[in-house]
Amino acid sequence: MLTQILERMESEVRTYSRSFPVVFTEAKGARLTAEDGKQYIDFLAGAGTLNYGHNHPKLQQALMDYISSNGIVHGLDMWTKAKRDYLEALEEVILKPRGLDYKVQLPGPTGTNVVEAAIRLARVATGRHNVVSFTNGFHGVTMGSLAVTGNRKFREATGGIPTSGGTFMPFDGYLGEGVDTLAYFEKLLGDNSSGLDRPAAVIVETVQGEGGINPASIEWLQRLDQLCKREEILLIIDDIQAGCGRTGKFFSFEHAGIKPDMVTNSKSLSGYGLPFSHLLMRPDLDKWQPGQYNGTFRGFSLAMVTATAALRHFWSDDTLERDVQRKARIVEERFQQLAEWLGGKGITASERGRGLMRALDVGTGDNADKITMEAFKRGLVIETSGHDGQAVKCLCPLTISDEDLLEGLDILESSVKHVFS
Ligand SMILES: *Cc1c(COP(=O)(O)O)cnc(C)c1O
Repeated sequence: MLTQILERMESEVRTYSRSFPVVFTEAKGARLTAEDGKQYIDFLAGAGTLNYGHNHPKLQQALMDYISSNGIVHGLDMWTKAKRDYLEALEEVILKPRGLDYKVQLPGPTGTNVVEAAIRLARVATGRHNVVSFTNGFHGVTMGSLAVTGNRKFREATGGIPTSGGTFMPFDGYLGEGVDTLAYFEKLLGDNSSGLDRPAAVIVETVQGEGGINPASIEWLQRLDQLCKREEILLIIDDIQAGCGRTGKFFSFEHAGIKPDMVTNSKSLSGYGLPFSHLLMRPDLDKWQPGQYNGTFRGFSLAMVTATAALRHFWSDDTLERDVQRKARIVEERFQQLAEWLGGKGITASERGRGLMRALDVGTGDNADKITMEAFKRGLVIETSGHDGQAVKCLCPLTISDEDLLEGLDILESSVKHVFS
């Protein structure tokens, strides 16, 4: 495979190509094909961007039909049929059946674009600046999002310019089992001498993705919601990675039965790997002046076309939800067995997650890297996350066939056993 030009010209900032140094040419469902014809099972799936797999035929057809009919590809934020169809599908298929009433902002297409929009709107709507986020949280790498992102590597890449406007609180479980991390936040809020500027908003992932697949307990999320309501702080759920069915519900916060003030979605929102994001906001929070927040690629038409097709195809009934829960139990069981096996070899390991957002924590990044490198040799693309990269994470397409799922899990098992036997 020719990789010289890639190594020579592409910036050192590249990441995933270091873990998987082959040239990929095609992909279908949960399988990637490299230039030499070797196939890989994809348990990374764009870090949660390909929940419906690669090139899903229904979405592909919708996209090809739209393009061949000369549908509008770019229209700034003008009204298009693609946008109307998308909003209709979102309201009918997702919001109404869940009793959710939101207005929709279509910012630039990336995750960090929509997080920036959410934070900015929280400030505009409340007149306060401080946004509370949590340890190990990840919300993107532009300055506003970075101010609420924990990871030091990203935070140190600003050339010394301090990020501002964010305050970190301990996430659920951060201080060890049995320690109530919300009690600390609550105490600071109630104390005029705590040094905590009254927050405009709290931004939180219900299951931290890049932070190591850390699920907040349902009870913790419900208490956080109540605390925010009581203190008149806006609750922003960053559902960029955990949303679109990853945890077994369309929105990850549905498990807790809460209704956040704002919701950010991106990653799998287009369903096809096309860049797309939206901000859902409680209607009375829509305090924007026309054009006060903009972007050239607001509501990318092609992404809205595939997003509409995805919502209508996958979310008109609960087939996918039930399938995710079923597959999640398979992954959970296999990861538990592997954790026990590793324990027998003296390696501290554990399993965690919600739905098909699951991790096998193998204690150290070094252990995790050894496993994922071996797995890649054996035909499985799987990545790590967490503060030390210690969590081997399964983010396989939700639509993966049982056959591919089991083959992927078998590869992972043989890799773990090869590395540590
Ligand atoms: C990936 C991610 C982001 C950032 O999205 P980008 O498209 O990479 O800017 C923000 N929040 C969460 C929870 C994410 O997983």
